[in-house]
Amino acid sequence: MSVILTLLAALIASGACAYHRTGLRTWAIATGVTTLVVGLLAGAPVTTVVLLIIEAAIAVPLLMPAFRRRQISAPLLKIFAKVTPKLSDTEQTALEAGTVGFEGELFSGKPDWHQLLSQPKPELSVEEQAFLDGPVEQLCAMIDDWQITHELGDLPPAVWEFIKKNKFFGMIIPKQYGGLQFSALAHSAVLQKLATMSATVASTVAVPNSLGPAELLLHYGSEEQKNHYLPRLAVGEEIPCFALTGPYAGSDATSLTDYGIVCKQVVDGAETLGVKLTFDKRYITLAPIATVVGLAFRMYDPEHLLGDKEDLGITLALLPRSTPGLQIGRRHFPLNIPFQNGPVHGKDVFAPLTTLIGGPHMAGHGWRMLVECLSVGRAISLPSNATGGVRMAVAATGAYARLRKQFGLSIARFEGVEEALARIGGLTYATAALSRATAAAVDRGEKPAVPSAIAKYHATEWGRIVAGDAMDVHGGKGVQLGPKNYAGRSWQGVPIAITVEGANIMTRSLMIFGQGAIRCHPYVLKEMQALSIADYGDRLKTFDRALFGHIGFGISNAVRSFTLGITGSAIGDAAGDAYTRRYYRKLNRYSAALALCADVFMGVLGGKLKFKEKLSARLGDVLSYLYIASAMLKRYEDTGRPEADRPLLAWAFHECVWRMQMALDGAIRNFPVRPVGWLLRVLVFPFGRREVPPSDRLGRRVAALITAPGEARDRLTQWAYLTPTANNTVGRMCALLPDVIAAEPVERKFQKAQKAGQFVSRDYDSQLLEAVKAAAITEGEAALLKRVRDASFEFISVDDFDPKELRAAVVRDEPTGKGLADAA
Ligand SMILES: Cc1cc2nc3c(=O)[nH]c(=O)nc-3n(C[C@H](O)[C@H](O)[C@H](O)COP(=O)(O)OP(=O)(O)OC[C@H]3O[C@@H](n4cnc5c(N)ncnc54)[C@H](O)[C@@H]3O)c2cc1C
Repeated sequence: MSVILTLLAALIASGACAYHRTGLRTWAIATGVTTLVVGLLAGAPVTTVVLLIIEAAIAVPLLMPAFRRRQISAPLLKIFAKVTPKLSDTEQTALEAGTVGFEGELFSGKPDWHQLLSQPKPELSVEEQAFLDGPVEQLCAMIDDWQITHELGDLPPAVWEFIKKNKFFGMIIPKQYGGLQFSALAHSAVLQKLATMSATVASTVAVPNSLGPAELLLHYGSEEQKNHYLPRLAVGEEIPCFALTGPYAGSDATSLTDYGIVCKQVVDGAETLGVKLTFDKRYITLAPIATVVGLAFRMYDPEHLLGDKEDLGITLALLPRSTPGLQIGRRHFPLNIPFQNGPVHGKDVFAPLTTLIGGPHMAGHGWRMLVECLSVGRAISLPSNATGGVRMAVAATGAYARLRKQFGLSIARFEGVEEALARIGGLTYATAALSRATAAAVDRGEKPAVPSAIAKYHATEWGRIVAGDAMDVHGGKGVQLGPKNYAGRSWQGVPIAITVEGANIMTRSLMIFGQGAIRCHPYVLKEMQALSIADYGDRLKTFDRALFGHIGFGISNAVRSFTLGITGSAIGDAAGDAYTRRYYRKLNRYSAALALCADVFMGVLGGKLKFKEKLSARLGDVLSYLYIASAMLKRYEDTGRPEADRPLLAWAFHECVWRMQMALDGAIRNFPVRPVGWLLRVLVFPFGRREVPPSDRLGRRVAALITAPGEARDRLTQWAYLTPTANNTVGRMCALLPDVIAAEPVERKFQKAQKAGQFVSRDYDSQLLEAVKAAAITEGEAALLKRVRDASFEFISVDDFDPKELRAAVVRDEPTGKGLADAA
């Protein structure tokens, strides 16, 4: 017994040190003293001595840096150098681009919540709010999405004009160049609001403000290029596009086959140095009407006109539309969301070297330029458009489910519909928090490489789920296209968001964890970087420091994961209030579990993990859900811990944690080295999988929140265009919602009388009169019922067409659409 007690005391002391991440010296002292005291008090001198010898054998050599480096780190450095896959230049560039924000804490196994909660609350400036309330509101009032998507296949000329005049294309351009110089939050809010009215308009506005000529010029352009282009881009005098993708270069953009050969050509009578470009690009947004084309190509200098190097690498140029030989103007047709998108071709097109972005010295730096700028646009464009879409789904589906009656009840009352409504509400809460967090990261000056991939993937995936649920709840009303259908086009366009700016399967399987593990891990990148240090002494020193930090980190995460697992996340540091404290603790647990699994997976599989995409994707999911859950908690704090939002937060949080658990379970279950998988299972799930998805009762509360006016619903639909204008069916439907709800008890009285056989008339209006006569309802109540029924009819109605009208839509004489012809 005394032996067990002594062993246990030593184990607990070691565990406590590992849990709290003390240094080796503290561990040696704490464990030594505990062993000595407990061992002697318990009367186990032999065990005490043996344990002290073991502890000393571990601590002493490790606490002698010179010895440790020579005997342990040096041989390990050799092995590490052999097994570490050499990073390609492309991977190296991707890893070096971007910064690490709070996601680094989530990867640490012990997040510092104070760091998250002390970040400034993202807010719009007065000027930005005025823009949302002014030009954005006016633009929304001009949008007729049916006209755009069906009749014109383009934005009408007045909308183009309004967008340009009000500088919607200049949101990221500084004021000194005539732009709006908006914060990322404002940029996101504008896109969200536009997306609630038209995916086509939102996409059109998003592209010039994302990765493209303006962004690239701002970072790398010469003064001359900036002064020429930026003021013109800001007011839409120049329409930009950026052409990277081609038939052979999609997800793997670096495999582009487009090339430029350095040569001399006489231009306007003068011999000019330039590149002869041959390219075949496709899917390029705004290309059909672009006046300036950003072009990515590989540049070669076979005659060594610029220097020794022949293959200079990926290079970026800006070609004016008037460039001889540029073939541009044809359109693709992306899933009935007819924003301008098309191919761009050219054969032996001459472009002077002055067209290279940044000038000739930037030749070959194109990939780095793209990757460095990618995260900022990716953090905003797609996440914001998706967030606008889900916000509108809350507004529309919440109202429609309340006013649409079947079996004598609002369809919102049926549990099956309630399930879909709960998903719409909960996922919208999560998506909105995620978008806000990534915009805030950009505004803090970060280049959020990993969060932007998380945001792009999850906002669009959840957008897909929500769009599907919204369609299901709308039934035939969602299916029948026409001016009255406000849901169908958003649903149709979902795969576009899934595909662009990093197709989702690749983003999930390759990028989130692949970049996250190396960038956010506190030691892996340092270990890898140590390999490239030329001086052996420095290399060994750096490697040794990172390696032993890493070992301590791994042990700590194993202990933390196990301890928090067996206690059901009931202990440990936490932030928040009495309601959210348990949430922070749960995240502590899964952060430790992720850090542990990441280390074990990387350690055991090494470079092969890159090809085990299904494992990598699942670990990426855990990182993503940790990030999203943190974003929700931050939003809850920033909005003053509103009690009304708690069901939404709870639903979305449980969904995230449940998904985290399932992702970890899947990763461990499929880990190829089974004994390692078994060990991980014990450390991560000591009592099995205990997390459960949101309960039905919680789902009911969420559904109730989104089907009635209220502050939580208002926050969920923030920035949705809900003004009840003639072009905004959803706005008008939401405006009717209070009356719909007020009419419900009256309707029940009316139905009771109806069922009791009190009416002889067959039509509704006459029955209302009879109900008043029979004193089943009052005159005022009858008027309310009639008003609601009449107004609701518009919302439950769908369109029908003369067959000729539909034929005309399919067999168009004018394939480019009227609007395009006018605008071009
Ligand atoms: C409407 C629209 C607008 C666009 N706008 C522009 C633009 O303005 N400028 C521009 O340059 N490009 C643009 N693109 C191109 C867009 O970025 C590419 O479509 C995207 O990069 C994917 O390339 P791909 O379509 O060729 O798919 P592919 O590369 O053929 O991929 C097909 C599938 O394989 C998956 N996949 C590929 N590699 C991997 C991997 N290693 N691991 C796991 N899965 C993988 C992908 O995720 C995808 O699901 C646009 C595309 C569309 C559809």
